[in-house]
Amino acid sequence: MATSGSDHSLRNHAHRQTLTPLQLVGLLGGTFDPIHCGHLRLAIEMKEQLGLSRVVLIPAHIPPHRDTPQVDAPTRHTLLQAAVEAIPGLEVDDRELQREKASYTIDTLRSLNTEHPGQSYCLLLGMDAFRGLDNWYQWQDILRYCHLGIAQRPGANCPQRGPVAKLLEHSRVTEPKGLTTVPAGRIIIREIPALDISATAIRQNIAKKRNISFLVPPQVQQIIRRKRLYQDAK
Ligand code: ATP
Repeated sequence: MATSGSDHSLRNHAHRQTLTPLQLVGLLGGTFDPIHCGHLRLAIEMKEQLGLSRVVLIPAHIPPHRDTPQVDAPTRHTLLQAAVEAIPGLEVDDRELQREKASYTIDTLRSLNTEHPGQSYCLLLGMDAFRGLDNWYQWQDILRYCHLGIAQRPGANCPQRGPVAKLLEHSRVTEPKGLTTVPAGRIIIREIPALDISATAIRQNIAKKRNISFLVPPQVQQIIRRKRLYQDAK
């Protein structure tokens, strides 16, 4: 396939060495159906461990790799905003909710890059999500736009073989400063305190009328209760 001029400059951008350490913004995409303390700890831990200036949570409107979310996009967005409002350095970006089509991460990265051309990003993923990276749309282009910060997650091991393992072998750095000398293209794996919390388990707990305190922030729990969300498990 022919490469456009802007593709060339982007590839150069990804490999350009800088002398002043770059300030990175973290990005955490997800269905957030609903947002839970596992997501929030992932964002906070990675922000602190990697020295990110802030972390932007980006809810998917129509996730391409999985079932349709149980709760509509505006309500998941409301839950996210309630969850982050008292946490310094965490923000919500609703750009994927503005799109009618599937929420491809590569499109989000391209749109951020167009809006903020000088900004460098670190896309945060749990290990389970990273293991499936090669199923993502245009996955081989993702590292041209950002670094990847992978957090261990209970039950998901580092890939040992296959295309994602190969990508990791080529791009891995072990120290956070390895992410600040080039604007994109590197992968770091960090241990974070394991919280075995998933949105699936939360939805099931609510449907069984179990108490979800300490799995989601109190303000999220209140909205879920008030709007009677997730009453039927799917
Ligand atoms: P579901 O149970 O519906 O699949 P989920 O809890 O995995 O949802 P997502 O919105 O799919 O939540 O996850 C968004 C991102 O957060 C993914 O990269 C995922 O790996 C990560 N993540 C979710 N929960 C945790 C957790 N407890 N610890 C670390 N990472 C997590």
